[in-house]
Amino acid sequence: MLADFISPIAPIAQSDRVPGFEPGGYRFKSCSVRILYFMQDVSPISIFQHTQKSYAEAVAARLGRGRQHAMLLYAKWFQEGTVEGLREAVEPQAVKLVDEMLGTTDFVLPGVAGERLEGETKKFLLRFSDGLESESVLIPMESGTTLCLSSQVGCQMGCAFCETGRMGLVRHLKRDEIVAQVFYARFVLGAAVRNIVFMGMGEPFDNYDEVMGAVRILTEPSGLGFGPSRITISTSGRVDGIYRMIEDADPALNLAVSVNAPCDEVRTRIMPVNRKWNMAALKKAMQDYCAHPRREIFAEYVLIQGVNDSLEQADMLAEYLQGLRVKVNLIPYNPQSKDRFAPPSHEVRENFLKRMRDLGYQTLLRGAKGQKIMAACGQLGNVQLRKQLRKVGQFSSEKVDCET
Ligand code: SF4
Repeated sequence: MLADFISPIAPIAQSDRVPGFEPGGYRFKSCSVRILYFMQDVSPISIFQHTQKSYAEAVAARLGRGRQHAMLLYAKWFQEGTVEGLREAVEPQAVKLVDEMLGTTDFVLPGVAGERLEGETKKFLLRFSDGLESESVLIPMESGTTLCLSSQVGCQMGCAFCETGRMGLVRHLKRDEIVAQVFYARFVLGAAVRNIVFMGMGEPFDNYDEVMGAVRILTEPSGLGFGPSRITISTSGRVDGIYRMIEDADPALNLAVSVNAPCDEVRTRIMPVNRKWNMAALKKAMQDYCAHPRREIFAEYVLIQGVNDSLEQADMLAEYLQGLRVKVNLIPYNPQSKDRFAPPSHEVRENFLKRMRDLGYQTLLRGAKGQKIMAACGQLGNVQLRKQLRKVGQFSSEKVDCET
């Protein structure tokens, strides 16, 4: 049985590939393990759902022993991406116990449904057991590789400049499905992931418990070991989520807020969430968030031609952000499959950037890495999948309740 784990990857079947994506995906073998579970009618312990402590407790509850060795197994899996050599590393009398732990643990990764490359920016799709897919993007940055994660399939927030918003919410991702995106990037693609941003498909605060559960696993010191300051949660402006973060999140975690407009009139036009939590409510939440001395906010601002890109609007934005500990990220609008907007000219972007800097804000103008492969900001969303779901009647057109 151990061979199932120590030679863990096998090519994904041709039929599982999404047309238009390069072949070459992998998934972990699990056949004999699944059969064993079926025969025993005992569900496996999914290692991707656990911190080290909770995994050790689950193993001890299942086997009646093995807490220490389970901690060893967990550390090896998440630090090396394999459990190869574990049997040889433990004392001979513990080999049987290790085999039992391996047999009772689910190490199965979702299959890859596609990969696309533009320069060093790579988008990859993982397909889950129900056939739905997450989209994740590896982006080379000056500070190292950033991995952009999805927290949902689709999104119900309906932002007008975003491809994912056109999908509606299909479903939330579970914490193991979020963690699998990181594990896949690090150990299957071999990416040296330095920073993680929850800026892929989905509104993270719409799926708060699973996102924060995933963050606990990603920051497990004896596992994947990401420092909280290397993780950014990005919200469209769900004020209730900001207050939950104030209550229970590590202050070192980063928060990004999609401000995107200098006034309610413009924001409501492009972000339905503004009808529920307007800019005054959002500012109050950001002020309360910044009350902690270690907390600051990345204010995201998608620049859209003729909508929010004038110098007068830059002045209004600067006034709105006054008193907050913020860094501003300007993101020129990226094309969608059906465009309603256009990006501003190079000159307009530079002028907006200069005005924000002149007004005292630390401001960056983001590039559009991955734009040609629909991997840039606001471009994720599988049109093909959406059509398939519509056909079989599984598509949710759920929209957020934005009425006050
Ligand atoms: S920008 Fe974010 S919150 Fe808005 S629709 Fe897209 S994924 Fe959802």
